[in-house]
Parts: sequence; structure tokens; C-alpha cells
Amino acid sequence: MGLVDELTVIITGAGAGIGRATALCFASEGAQVVVSDIDSNGAAETVNMIEKAGGTATLVTADVSKPADVAALIDMAVATYGKIDCAVNNAGIEGKIIPFADQTDDNFDAIISVNLKGTFLCMKAEIAAMLKSGGGTIVNLSSVAGLIGFSGLAPYVASKHGVAGLTKNAALEYGKSGIRVNAVCPGGIDTRMLDSLADQATGGTQSSAQMMDPLHPIGRIGKPQEVADLIVWLCSPRASFVTGAIIPVDGGYVAQ
Ligand code: NAP
Repeated sequence: MGLVDELTVIITGAGAGIGRATALCFASEGAQVVVSDIDSNGAAETVNMIEKAGGTATLVTADVSKPADVAALIDMAVATYGKIDCAVNNAGIEGKIIPFADQTDDNFDAIISVNLKGTFLCMKAEIAAMLKSGGGTIVNLSSVAGLIGFSGLAPYVASKHGVAGLTKNAALEYGKSGIRVNAVCPGGIDTRMLDSLADQATGGTQSSAQMMDPLHPIGRIGKPQEVADLIVWLCSPRASFVTGAIIPVDGGYVAQ
């Protein structure tokens, strides 16, 4: 018996990193997974990995910042599996590290349109579908940068604080309709995104682990699977009284 047996989940940004680990974790716990990403090659690889392990998955290429793509993603999921039980709004970009006063409109707009507006567009469509089918659960990817500031990352920090706000609002608006909405706030997790941030911060002289292991009280950065486990639990019936929560999974980072 899996934690999410026979539930259907949509995961955005599931072609790599935390999204891929989450897709694999859902499949191994019994869910049918709609693997979505802007990168169809990465998403196809995730679907392959799930099918090789005996799971069920469908690929939908979608850019979460485009309303038409998001509508097509939700329609395809409902057409394929009948309903959406769970949704993980994970797609995100880090952008460039730039001091506040030098920030460019382009960097700000790109990050906000994917991380914040993309999450908003997905949530709207997911909630509409869940209202029709009688409920569901949503987990959004915020960040420790949704709880505290990080120098050089103002647009990213603003987008992730915004994701926490969307999460709380939807939780209070739809709790009585059987929809739970939570956000997870990872610390440094070993993915391409963290490599990019470490590259930018150190000019390529340090790996993400070299730079960020010591910054976490637990002494290391996290693994994508360690975030995936929390997300799957939040979507499972075991978390039936958890909604509107913004939960760090950060090796103690924000406890400092
Ligand atoms: P990642 O390894 O870069 O994977 C992100 C995936 O999302 C990639 O496949 C990417 O495709 C895709 N994507 C980018 N823009 C998209 C769009 N507009 N529509 C659909 N898919 C899109 O990142 P990650 O580290 O797994 O991060 C996943 C989430 O966790 C993000 O929201 C991130 O902000 C959050 N997070 C990460 C960390 C960390 O340390 N890694 C910490 C806190 C929070 P391309 O590769 O083609 O761009």
C-alpha cells in the first residue's frame, strides 16, 4: 500500500531536480503522474524512469508562464485520468545574482513571470478542476528565500515570498471545499539551480556543496529526494489536518 495509491498528480518542472525526484517518489508510492516541463527531453527522461520502475506517467510539455499552456496541461490531465487529486507547482528559475540597485527589469520580469505568475496560473486552473471533482491537495515550491532575504536575489526572494502568500490565501479560501494547500521551503538542494547560483557567486571557483554545506546547521546541502518525501507526505491522507503551512526543509538553515 503506497502513501498516494491511485491518486493522480500533476508536477511542473518535473524534467529535472526536485521535480523529477518528486515525480519518482509519487510513482513509487502508487500515484499516476503527469510529468510536465518546458524541457520536453528532461520530462521524457523522467517518464522513462517512472515506466522502467513499473509506474504510470504521462508527459505534457508546458511553460507555466503561458496561460494557454497551463490550460492545456490541466485539460490533458483531466482527459487522461478523469481528475486531478494532487498538484505540485515546482517549476522555477533562479535568474541572475545582481545587487538591488542594479537589478534589471528583464531579470525581475523573467523570475516573477515563472515563479510567481506561473504558480498563480497553475493554482487557479488546479483549484477549478479540484472544485469540480470534490477536492484535492496542492503543494507549492517556495524556498528559504520565501522566509528570509538573500543578497543579490531580490526578484527571486520576492517571488518566493509571493508563493507563500498565494499558498496561505488559497488555503483559507478553499479549506471548506476539501482542498488543502501548503508550501515547502527547501534550503540548498543539490540540483542544477544550486550549481548555477554557486557558479555565479564564486565565479566558478567552488561547487555548490563547497560553498553551501557549511551554511547549513546539519553540515550539508540536501538531496532532491529529501524534499520529495515531504511533498508526497503533504499530499497524502496522513497530512489531512495540514493546510496553509509554509514548511522549511532546510537542514536548519532558517533556525539560525
Ligand atoms: P532545476 O534543477 O533547475 O529544475 C527546474 C525545472 O523546471 C527544469 O527542468 C526547468 O527546465 C523547468 N522550468 C524552468 N522554467 C519553466 C517554465 N517556465 N515552465 C515549466 N518548467 C520550467 O531546479 P530545482 O532546483 O529542482 O528547483 C525546483 C523548485 O525548487 C524551484 O521552484 C526552485 O525555486 C525551488 N527551490 C530550489 C532550491 C535548490 O536549492 N535547488 C532551494 C529552494 C527552492 P529548464 O532546465 O529547461 O529551464
